[in-house]
Amino acid sequence: MNRGITRREREVTDRNEIIEILDKCKIVHLGLIDGNLPYVVPMNYGYTMEEGQLTLYMHGATKGRKTDLIRTNPNVFFEMECDVTPFDGKAACQYGTSYQSIMGEGRAEILDDIEEKKKALSIFMKSQTGREFEFQDKMVSVVNVIKIQVSDYTAKRRPLPLMMQV
Ligand SMILES: Cc1cc2nc3c(=O)[nH]c(=O)nc-3n(C[C@H](O)[C@H](O)[C@H](O)COP(=O)(O)OP(=O)(O)OC[C@H]3O[C@@H](n4cnc5c(N)ncnc54)[C@H](O)[C@@H]3O)c2cc1C
Repeated sequence: MNRGITRREREVTDRNEIIEILDKCKIVHLGLIDGNLPYVVPMNYGYTMEEGQLTLYMHGATKGRKTDLIRTNPNVFFEMECDVTPFDGKAACQYGTSYQSIMGEGRAEILDDIEEKKKALSIFMKSQTGREFEFQDKMVSVVNVIKIQVSDYTAKRRPLPLMMQV
């Protein structure tokens, strides 16, 4: 559920700025549900933003804890951040870290259709490298491809203090 950001002045709502963050982050921390405990796994991702619909794509081994958990409960939460720069100050409370981040929730699905997997892997590689790749059936059949349809997200930016900006 999107409760809104407490520090409203740090919220990023401009779609182009959100896309810039999605382009930069490269790593997502994917939160899954394991019984009554969270399980968080860092992964690379690709994304599409189509008419405001954000979709994330990841790939990995066909077996493992995250795969088992997604099959049991597809509800996920995620966080990604970039432009992380610690800064210091005179007093302890003046130290901090500038960043840009996105957090959100959605439903994960492990793709079965080979053509859909190929398309997802192309999106993944394009997001990660900026390059176009094509995939053969054999390469695609040995990996899991995860699609996350994001239902809600927020973006936030904490800039460097003015005196530290160049
Ligand atoms: C920066 C980064 C990028 C990554 N990108 C990808 C990616 O694109 N695709 C991908 O599949 N994986 C990626 N990984 C690895 C990923 O974090 C998991 O290790 C991997 O996906 C296996 O997850 P699993 O739940 O199937 O692991 P399993 O091997 O089933 O997990 C068993 C146990 O191993 C431990 N474990 C699992 N992963 C980690 C970890 N990363 N660090 C410490 N302990 C761990 C946990 O205690 C877990 O309960 C990345 C890791 C990092 C740090």
